[in-house]
Amino acid sequence: MTKANYPVNKFKALQTPFYYYDLEVLRATLSEINAQTAGKSFQVHYALKANVNPLVLKTIKDAGLGADCVSGGEVQAALDAGIPASKVVFAGVGKADWEIELGLDNDIFCFNVESIPELEVINEMAGAKGKIARVALRINPNVSAHTHHYITTGLNENKFGINLTDLDKVTDLVLTLPHIKMEGIHFHIGSQITDMSSFEDLSVKVNEIQEHFESRGVKLEHINVGGGLGINYEHPNHFPIPDFQSYFNIFSKHLTLRTGQTLHFELGRAVVAQCGSLISKVLYVKEGTSKKFAILDAGFTELIRPALYQAYHRIENLTSELPEEKYDVVGPICESSDTFAKDYSMNATQRGDLIALRSAGAYGEIMASQYNLRKLPKAYTSDDLAI
Ligand SMILES: *Cc1c(COP(=O)(O)O)cnc(C)c1O
Repeated sequence: MTKANYPVNKFKALQTPFYYYDLEVLRATLSEINAQTAGKSFQVHYALKANVNPLVLKTIKDAGLGADCVSGGEVQAALDAGIPASKVVFAGVGKADWEIELGLDNDIFCFNVESIPELEVINEMAGAKGKIARVALRINPNVSAHTHHYITTGLNENKFGINLTDLDKVTDLVLTLPHIKMEGIHFHIGSQITDMSSFEDLSVKVNEIQEHFESRGVKLEHINVGGGLGINYEHPNHFPIPDFQSYFNIFSKHLTLRTGQTLHFELGRAVVAQCGSLISKVLYVKEGTSKKFAILDAGFTELIRPALYQAYHRIENLTSELPEEKYDVVGPICESSDTFAKDYSMNATQRGDLIALRSAGAYGEIMASQYNLRKLPKAYTSDDLAI
């Protein structure tokens, strides 16, 4: 069984649980994104909601990615990290007035707008400031992402975006609003998408919608296809970098851009998931009637994805090379859902062993809570722990 390269001796001196980010993995991922988009009119925005660790964010900014934000807090974090406002997009079904104001005051690249009332509010607020807000309409393309139903967003039944049946009505309105400039269209069909045909379906839909706009005399400056590219949770050591080549090629091949048009992406998980691990210590190994429990000092307060989405994270015992045994790997929180894995094979485990929960760089630390009055986890990077 291959394990990742961790500075285990350094880990032993640290208070667990904590997040560990391998910036070499992150830099390699970002290089691959830049290599696969070089020479194309593509702009990748990093979806901040996946992870806002300052060093992670700085590394992403240094690679030249823009930002995709879903709250005023994220817009501010992107700007604070030095990402230029001209590369910041702001999405979300429920933008509060102060959040819209923040975007307007900083002249962000684009508001991705999800409803008529939101358009009217942005128009009014931009007017009061004597500004014109650049917007893209978030359209719900009714394309299935073939992923967990909690993380599909592009079907008619989801709360996100403007449904195709309402598109003409919204377009009629948007063209009459004096403080709105409609520059683009935006889509985001879901997350952890591993079936690439979903992105092909999306491209085909985008082409149809673009033709529809053109038939109405509306010219679009950019198209934003959102994020959602999945990662390999089963084999993080063999597939540390997602297949960006296939991903970007699908859009190059199937989505027809007009001259001068730019294509925007909003990748979160695919950028940061594989660089992060949650490092935890085994508190107790408890013998149940028919199974063994490895009780960790990390629980769903540090990593909620297994409890929330039945998500799988690979688990490695970093300090044991003993033959494998099966465990239910659980946390200390007073809820039965505080279980990371059942009947999981890992090297025979004892109290004090260090455990890595892999592929936890996205939607891990950022979703941590203080439930049970626990402390929020600290985070270290490979740069912090370098010799
Ligand atoms: C969450 C989100 C993303 C990023 O999704 P990933 O699956 O992490 O790539 C992109 N765009 C929008 C609008 C989002 O809400």
